[in-house]
Amino acid sequence: MLQEKFLALGKVKNCMRELTAYGNARKTEIGAENVFDFSLGSPSAPVPKVVTQAMIDSLSLDTLHDRIPEEGLPSFRQAIAEELRCRYAMNVHADYIYIISGAAGGLAVCAKALLLPGEEVILFAPYFTEYPVFLEGANGVPVIVGPDEDFQPDLEAFRKAITEKTKFVLVNTPNNPSGVILSEHSLKEISAILQDAQVRFGHPIYLVSDEPYRELVYDCDRIPCVMNAYENTILCYSFSKSLSIPGERIGYLAVNTAMPDRDEVFTAIKGAALSLGYLGAPSIMQYTLTRCVGMTSDIAIYKRNRDMLYHSLTSLGFQCVKPEGAFYLFMKAPIPDAKEFSESAKKYELLLVPSDDFGISGYMRLAYCVPTETIERALPAFEKLAEEYGLR
Ligand code: PLP
Repeated sequence: MLQEKFLALGKVKNCMRELTAYGNARKTEIGAENVFDFSLGSPSAPVPKVVTQAMIDSLSLDTLHDRIPEEGLPSFRQAIAEELRCRYAMNVHADYIYIISGAAGGLAVCAKALLLPGEEVILFAPYFTEYPVFLEGANGVPVIVGPDEDFQPDLEAFRKAITEKTKFVLVNTPNNPSGVILSEHSLKEISAILQDAQVRFGHPIYLVSDEPYRELVYDCDRIPCVMNAYENTILCYSFSKSLSIPGERIGYLAVNTAMPDRDEVFTAIKGAALSLGYLGAPSIMQYTLTRCVGMTSDIAIYKRNRDMLYHSLTSLGFQCVKPEGAFYLFMKAPIPDAKEFSESAKKYELLLVPSDDFGISGYMRLAYCVPTETIERALPAFEKLAEEYGLR
């Protein structure tokens, strides 16, 4: 007899992965240049040369293959803390930073550390497809709150969704799949609502901020700082997107040093990570990135792609949410059923992910971390799609 819950999670069909698999088969059949694959959020900006060189240099370290402390290499934690303090004025200290295998690892650990069975976690739709999986793995219950017309969290619905069982709220900025940045106003309101709820229910409610796209912003210098808006914040970060290294599985959790029970929370994170079998993140990446904290791949290509795609699609009559960060564009399907529209787009070799797995219906996600040429070549196909649906 196996755990039914994990059997079910293992069988879950994810639209995005199915579409990518379909696209790969189609590329073999008709040639990669003839398939306009916007399905996968895999960074395409080149890895900075400095990172590659630091990785090569790490190979000659005597200590490279030695075990390092589970919470991470002290020099790496120190470098991260300094960067967060200097660049974002965050309340962080190296002692409250836990190095972990990517944002996915960090989120799974957070859920395990914070949740008692049946406790609730508020997710703002649209959200990253794997969030419910991480929560279910820790016996948590997702509670979904939709967006307002600007794709910021619907604050009134949020206020109503909080109950005495709410343990944490998960935000993601810049957002996958909408590309929207959580505004100063939303952040201030979320913080005030949570402060009020903590007093009402007499226990802490945590805010987990998932920020793997933090540096991928196009119209501003930096995103509003979630950690400084609310003291019970845990930051979850990954180097996957900022340095284009998703295969290296490296990121961290940072507990706000202003959090009253920061020691217990950090200890629970260590315990949860152990219980999930994380005995530290890959040492080569820790040595390498100690020298590269604060660097970002050249994201000019994402900005160029965003501008071209947003401008072209809106000119064709599609309604799009203007992406401010990450590398996703969220487009309204011209019919209520996004899955049907995704099927229809395949006729023109356009692979667009329907939004249902992101907790919202009626939209399409387009990952524009593709060669700019792919977008240029896809424009006639989008034109045909717009014509078929009477948009022009
Ligand atoms: N959170 C969000 C919003 C993501 O988009 C992703 C990956 O695409 C992750 C977390 C997981 O990141 P990582 O691959 O670094 O674990």
